[in-house]
Amino acid sequence: MNRIREIDASNNSLVVEAGCILANVREVADQHKRQFPLLLGSVGSCEIGGLVSTNAGGTGVLRYGNMRELVLGLEVVLPDSAVWDGLRALRKDNSGYDLKQLFIGAEGTLGIVTAAVLKLFPKLAVSASAMVALPGVQQAVDLLRFLQEQVGQRIEAFEILSRRQIEIVVKHGHGLSSPMPLDAPFYVLIELADSSPTWDAGAELENVLAEALDRELLSDAVVATDLAKAERMWALRHNISECNKHAGFTVSNDTSVPVSRLPAFILGVTERIERVVAGACVCHAGHIGDGNIHVIAVLSRVMYSTPEQCEAAAAQVNLIVHEASVELGGSISAEHGVGRMHVQRLERFKPPVDLQMMRMVKAVFDPQGVMNPGKILR
Ligand SMILES: Cc1cc2nc3c(=O)[nH]c(=O)nc-3n(C[C@H](O)[C@H](O)[C@H](O)COP(=O)(O)OP(=O)(O)OC[C@H]3O[C@@H](n4cnc5c(N)ncnc54)[C@H](O)[C@@H]3O)c2cc1C
Repeated sequence: MNRIREIDASNNSLVVEAGCILANVREVADQHKRQFPLLLGSVGSCEIGGLVSTNAGGTGVLRYGNMRELVLGLEVVLPDSAVWDGLRALRKDNSGYDLKQLFIGAEGTLGIVTAAVLKLFPKLAVSASAMVALPGVQQAVDLLRFLQEQVGQRIEAFEILSRRQIEIVVKHGHGLSSPMPLDAPFYVLIELADSSPTWDAGAELENVLAEALDRELLSDAVVATDLAKAERMWALRHNISECNKHAGFTVSNDTSVPVSRLPAFILGVTERIERVVAGACVCHAGHIGDGNIHVIAVLSRVMYSTPEQCEAAAAQVNLIVHEASVELGGSISAEHGVGRMHVQRLERFKPPVDLQMMRMVKAVFDPQGVMNPGKILR
């Protein structure tokens, strides 16, 4: 199921089968002078069915939304073998419940997605990237707000990385290097982009960062002068998962809180993990523009050498991060879903009425419990 069934450039939509790889979908859109904006580290391997079912996010959520906002219609095989043809390419349809949304992010527990209608956007003509050093997370939040005021919707990505995280990538990234000294606690990678070829993205980015420097919103910045340099900057972000595996036993979390509460969240969890979990090196990376931060504890394989030790440390880290996110009005899973791993955690943190409604939906679609049993709900 990896065919592109139809492209409608005037409607800015594309009908694809569930087995299409994201990179191929983006390539087809590009050939039609359009853009499918979802972008994440697994771009070369993840499939549309999986992206729909995990409501994937990635670096473009700030501007375009996550998969939930990028899907216009779905085709789904239901547990009783009926095929639901919801492949409508409409941006407005208030004729009852929006059924497709039930399947997006359902992790395959309600039916099997076989095809999707995706939203396309004008192809980007110009872009510019920068790496910025910051004294703290509050400055990252302030800088984002300032950029939004100055350049509006043209912020394509705004990602934070802690110094420790970049140091790990530089150490284990097979030749990856930082374009600036690593002497600040936090860095953001910024991309501005636009579909208008006459807009000078590089000059705009330089001007706005100079103004931000005057206002003490940042301590240093490097603007990439060509595409190759921009790609090398972004490689620091996209190689985190791979490099962390070489650095030790990693416990990675995927939580979100309102953007304004990120400084308190990051400070709080870092301090608690370092106090409770001996020897933990706490790193941060993530989509700060949409409140989604990955708190990553890297543990030495010498200190944590048995599966039991690793499991106990992981449980401690996860509990600290989940408790802190919920206390601050956040979610225990921002974009990676629940799977089987977090089923009990969900029961602990989700209000009973939410859980009850989810069980009722599951019972209506899948009364025999044949679709991905044990995922999301017991
Ligand atoms: C290096 C790396 C970086 C990543 N970065 C991000 C990121 O920034 N943001 C983010 O959101 N995610 C990220 N991810 C995870 C990414 O979300 C997944 O790769 C993707 O969302 C799922 O696609 P998949 O093809 O891998 O699905 P799979 O892993 O195969 O499946 C995911 C789930 O969906 C179900 N499923 C799969 N296909 C269907 C179908 N056709 N119908 C019904 N259910 C189905 C599966 O049963 C499973 O529960 C990253 C992953 C990697 C490896």
